Amino acid sequence: MKVVVAGAGIAANVLLRQLRQRADPELEVRAYELRTYQDASPPGLNVLMNHNGLASIKECDPELYEAFHALQGSPMRNWSARTMSGEILYHLEDVVASGDAAVPSLVARWNEIHEATRVDELTEYNVKVVQVVVEEGKETLAVKLLRYKENDANANGQAEEPVEEWVTGVDLVVAADGRYSAIREQLAPTPTYYGPPYCADFRIVAQGVDVSFLTDDVPMWRVYNKPNTAAILQEEAYANNPGVVAAASGYVRVGIMKLGEDLIGVFGNVKLADGGKVDDAVKSTEVLVRLFEPAAGDPEPDHMGKVVLQVLKSHGAEAHWSRKQQTETCYSALDNRVLFIGDAAGAIYPSLGQGANLSLEDATVAAACFPDVATIASLRSDRRHFIKDMSRKHAMHIAFRDTFEEEINNWNDPECEWRANLRRLWCSGKQLALRAVTATKENFAPYGQLISESLDGDVFDPLTSDASLDLSRGSPRLYLMKLTGGRPMRASQITRHRQVTQCLGALGTTEDFYLVVHEPGDHLGIKGLQAMRIPPRHFVKLHVGTWHVGPMWTGNDPDRTFMNLELADTNVTDHDTVEFQTLLPGANEKDEPLVIPVLAVSPS
Ligand SMILES: Cc1cc2nc3c(=O)[nH]c(=O)nc-3n(C[C@H](O)[C@H](O)[C@H](O)COP(=O)(O)OP(=O)(O)OC[C@H]3O[C@@H](n4cnc5c(N)ncnc54)[C@H](O)[C@@H]3O)c2cc1C
Repeated sequence: MKVVVAGAGIAANVLLRQLRQRADPELEVRAYELRTYQDASPPGLNVLMNHNGLASIKECDPELYEAFHALQGSPMRNWSARTMSGEILYHLEDVVASGDAAVPSLVARWNEIHEATRVDELTEYNVKVVQVVVEEGKETLAVKLLRYKENDANANGQAEEPVEEWVTGVDLVVAADGRYSAIREQLAPTPTYYGPPYCADFRIVAQGVDVSFLTDDVPMWRVYNKPNTAAILQEEAYANNPGVVAAASGYVRVGIMKLGEDLIGVFGNVKLADGGKVDDAVKSTEVLVRLFEPAAGDPEPDHMGKVVLQVLKSHGAEAHWSRKQQTETCYSALDNRVLFIGDAAGAIYPSLGQGANLSLEDATVAAACFPDVATIASLRSDRRHFIKDMSRKHAMHIAFRDTFEEEINNWNDPECEWRANLRRLWCSGKQLALRAVTATKENFAPYGQLISESLDGDVFDPLTSDASLDLSRGSPRLYLMKLTGGRPMRASQITRHRQVTQCLGALGTTEDFYLVVHEPGDHLGIKGLQAMRIPPRHFVKLHVGTWHVGPMWTGNDPDRTFMNLELADTNVTDHDTVEFQTLLPGANEKDEPLVIPVLAVSPS
């Protein structure tokens, strides 16, 4: 299988690491990155690697998880916000201990995080992916590249033309080329949405700052200010500038985080004029500082507030600015021959620090289900929508002052919908997949019996060739069960029957099918789940109490028929069903369903 990956950002790299680990000689993978080898890990701004993104990495790539934690940066368990004068607005103490998050988050530097993910041996730098087309008369794709020189000026200092190249016979393109993805633009364009709420972000990294107020317990604070609108707009130049008028009429906020012993990262938000760009006046140090100064009569800034003002004064002019924007979610194109992951699958507002984390989640799910694009897309779409909506909601109070109180109440009320959603956001980055094995008499023994064909005239042998049945607790029921509408390869719950040895087999001579099983007993756990492929011309007998879900099958058969032997009332009275999400540590009834993909196994 020939795979082209566009881009070598964090989403691409996390996937590439997993594909490299497969060491599959049949898998030919090449990534093409627009940046040069030297510039591929972009300069060190701050990033919040969130609970959910890190949980997915811990599950899928423990080595990378350790590498992230070995970097300069601080693990974070508490979410805390205050005003410039130090009044506490909310403080969520240890969200890991409270079960609201699976693992601590991490405040770190972007370039260091990116560097830790790089897979240089599979990546060609200085190459732009510009187009993907279906090859004429074939199922495969051709990918157009523009290859630049490492130093793109010739001896006379003239920029050299890039060399055009086509990669042909490609089975799958993974577009991980970020929020301005050329492939997305070509195959699934969508207008960019800037608001409402219209907001901008700025990021600053400052060295030599006293960071003693940022402790290991709380390495990041959010600091809010309600700008002194009247005082700012007293100045005519500001009053006549729609950008400054807008900024002064919202709330301003910074996240201030400890990146090293005297290194601080600041991530800020201000309101923009409707539909507007970030005005140069708003970017000026003078206006930035004015926006964060308390209103007359309000308490003076405390020590942390003073540091915020000091950093804005000394480094405000160097701030990196961008507008908050989002695009529609889309994971696949060209009949599942193109997979979008990371920002290419849809940009979101960065207000909850989730963009890169969605990239991590996408990449780990893509790796687990690779190369089943339809399954990846179906597992990821709702999740990206959910996080996109939450991230936008979390920017509202910056633009609309009257929603500020509700925002703060939401963080303080453990019973409210926002907190349930935060829990859903932070806890369920963990996405597992079950790789199936083909059932044999031996490996199926803990769950039941695998019954294969016997010859006419063979004698009854319940230990090897025949099913050893227990139908003694009711009237047996033998029927042909027609399942319609397909049965996709995933599961979110599991069932046991405690009164009968159920038997199940596919009708037909070529049809295999899949079950997820777990040994009988009350100690059900995610780790005990096993996906099994039942080969054609076989059926299974499940022990009394074996947990099972299925049957499911690959391919597009809209229906299939199964032989089913159970008791007359099994379906009515003997159903004990457990949802997978309730098996996770710290599970809560409000948790979102945990859908586990089942990965098929080759019939050979
Ligand atoms: C202001 C701001 C603050 C943010 N803060 C956070 C935060 O705190 N936490 C968080 O989780 N997220 C944050 N994000 C979001 C985060 O930066 C992105 O979501 C993340 O980088 C997406 O990763 P990616 O791999 O999908 O794309 P990218 O990181 O954009 O990588 C795409 C790669 O593809 C390359 N490329 C682009 N076009 C082509 C092409 N045609 N051919 C070849 N290569 C190409 C690019 O050079 C790049 O290397 C923030 C974003 C912004 C704007």
